Amino acid sequence: MSESIKEELWQIIDDRKDELVNLVSNLIKIPSENPTSNVEEITEFISEYLEQNKIEYEIIRSEPKYPNIVAKLGNDEGKTIVLNGHADVVPAGDRNKWDFDPFSGEITDTQILGRGTSDMKAGLAGIIFATKILAEKKAKLKGKIILHVVPDEETGGDKGSKWLIENGYARNADACLVAEPTSYSNCEVGQKGSLWIKIKSYGKSAHGSIGNYVGENAITKIIKILDKVEDLTQLKGKYKESQLKVLEDSKMIAKGALKAEGVENVIDHVAVNVGTINGGIKTNMVADYCEAAIDVRMPIGVKAADIEREFNKIVDGLNLQGIDYEFNWNSEANYTDANEPLVKSAVNNAEKIWNKKVVPAYQWASSDARYYRYNNIPTIQYGPANTEGIHSYNETVDIEDVINSTKVYLGILTDLLEIEI
Ligand SMILES: [Zn+2]
Repeated sequence: MSESIKEELWQIIDDRKDELVNLVSNLIKIPSENPTSNVEEITEFISEYLEQNKIEYEIIRSEPKYPNIVAKLGNDEGKTIVLNGHADVVPAGDRNKWDFDPFSGEITDTQILGRGTSDMKAGLAGIIFATKILAEKKAKLKGKIILHVVPDEETGGDKGSKWLIENGYARNADACLVAEPTSYSNCEVGQKGSLWIKIKSYGKSAHGSIGNYVGENAITKIIKILDKVEDLTQLKGKYKESQLKVLEDSKMIAKGALKAEGVENVIDHVAVNVGTINGGIKTNMVADYCEAAIDVRMPIGVKAADIEREFNKIVDGLNLQGIDYEFNWNSEANYTDANEPLVKSAVNNAEKIWNKKVVPAYQWASSDARYYRYNNIPTIQYGPANTEGIHSYNETVDIEDVINSTKVYLGILTDLLEIEI
């Protein structure tokens, strides 16, 4: 029964793909760069779209400049499925590095071009369009869809997804689908955590000519720590038996996508990046101050507290004077069990639509998906993507990818909400 309903819905997407593609293009034409711009215009555009399609919604501001759209389709008798998408994009940056206008929303034979096509206005358009089709067909749902369109994923999600969850807008949710870019062949079911460390090194100034004997060099001190910090990458994640297959597939995906020697280890090992270092005043002076900032990413099974403990050990072992540091916690690693009905449905539908192998996978980065997982809501990410342009230049998305992802969304909703049309 549900298979024939899916076929019918998928046929509608094929028949009306121009509408979907135009929706993506229209979203691209509204700049919503974060930081530097705002999401007022795009929020207004999406609200009007929902209004025209008679989908109930409200705009909820976590702060005056941060509008979230929460829309609803269905009833309270059954499951609650959250569909999440962010309306903000990272800045386009230097226009000279683009081969096309990042905000033209140009449509070619096979692609849509512009900032935010892959991350993630195509995915956002997909979940909105899927909801619209169900509204239009007056589909019968056993439960409801809650749409979360959020304004600030690119700056951490505090005023968007996190705020919505803390204020009860995902109450009793049974599952959440985030339409962030993955690739057609994988469905994201877990992410790494992140912790930032800021180190401050204090020394004693002296004339550079006598620096080996007099004064205390803050730069050489901090370098001793940075030298040891790489040791943290030896820390390995811990996985349950049932997670090993997903882990193995994730490593294969990382290897294929990132094409660097040993890069598959990024999935199940701690990653460390010394992002900035600032110190010293002049070549012929002994530096009396230096600071550095480090980004540490933790795999599943390694907590922020483990990193803090290991880092303390490193610094203590060096026995240095005049060193201060602080930890800034961003997130813990998080995951959804690959046996959840949501994950199975996503994989089955995607395999059927693409007629190719699709697997659940862990990512090396993180997104708003974590906030839903912290609240014990099974959550996946699945969305159209050409990864090369994401957070870079010449961002694009393939039209085939947009159409098929939207079909996957409708397939998942049909399975979980036992949709009838
Ligand atoms: Zn994104």
